[in-house]
Amino acid sequence: MIDLRSDTVTKPSDAMREAMARAAVGDDVYGEDPTVNRLQEMAAALLGKAAALFVPSGTMANQLSLRVQTQPGREVIADHRSHVIRYEQGAGAALSGAQFHGLEGRRGLLTPDQVEAAIRPRDPHTVQTALIWLENTHNTGGGTVYPIETVTRIHEVARRHGLPMHLDGARLFNAVVATGVSASDYARPFDTVSFCLSKGLGAPVGSMIVTDNMSLMESLRRFRRMYGGAMRQAGILAAAGIFALEHNIDRLKDDHQHAQLLASLLAKAPGVAVDPAAVQTNIVMFDVITAHLSGSDIVKALKEEGVLVNCVGGQTFRAVTHLDVGKRDIERAGEIVHRVLAR
Ligand SMILES: *Cc1c(COP(=O)(O)O)cnc(C)c1O
Repeated sequence: MIDLRSDTVTKPSDAMREAMARAAVGDDVYGEDPTVNRLQEMAAALLGKAAALFVPSGTMANQLSLRVQTQPGREVIADHRSHVIRYEQGAGAALSGAQFHGLEGRRGLLTPDQVEAAIRPRDPHTVQTALIWLENTHNTGGGTVYPIETVTRIHEVARRHGLPMHLDGARLFNAVVATGVSASDYARPFDTVSFCLSKGLGAPVGSMIVTDNMSLMESLRRFRRMYGGAMRQAGILAAAGIFALEHNIDRLKDDHQHAQLLASLLAKAPGVAVDPAAVQTNIVMFDVITAHLSGSDIVKALKEEGVLVNCVGGQTFRAVTHLDVGKRDIERAGEIVHRVLAR
């Protein structure tokens, strides 16, 4: 099977498993797991922040960041297709009482003017804005990358209005590798940044939250406990994260090349509409225009031939490259899509 449904499907390599098996551990609720502590120090240093917290998932990283930076009934400005709005089971409303002001971004990316226009006036009638939320790279936008200049200008807007910012950087390192902008430059304007170890970086489990604000970190730690995310000998998982940061960042450029290759192969398949120039990182969005096959028919037919992709609604599909698919797999996937659609 060539599994292009997501970069979450990656499995730990033998070398990563060895690092996990060898990890020194302790009770992390006491702050005594040396491997978790080392991962947190590495993540903080890499993003140029004072402190980092290891959490079980990207969803928890986002939800804790939300919980400590808003109050029930306050509004959070985000693109309307953000992960935090679409794919976290309404946790922002359920656990933080947050109301989202979903904006229509361009492939998920907001402009400074859009953000400024969405900030509520401070009067007694109007809901109050609490937080500005960006996602980089943008998942449902198709792996789109924020230009650093746009982030800087949105930060100027936030500062002018005294508002904090969170970055959902689940795939931040894809943006880093695609642009050459450092992770710390991307992270600088944000009060909190989350990123996933369990996607393209190839760890089986785990996400990080980083911040410069030590009183926020104290609250993040308390709410992590409340949300059930405080783990004990978590160093076994953290060791995979350390391995991922040490070995799997630069190679994301291979995934980006593979996504380009896939887009160019898909563009030649009958009925496929895809713009290879729109592929910025490891996500390829494409449409299939056929009268005789529904989206789920196509997913099924491809699966029978050994390729897994997701239909993300209607005739639109998403394919994601990652460290468990090589160039040869991509070439084969291209051939299979071509064959299935030519029938
Ligand atoms: C995957 C993802 C997350 C977190 O997902 P988990 O499955 O909870 O680890 C958050 N934000 C974005 C943009 C994502 O793609």
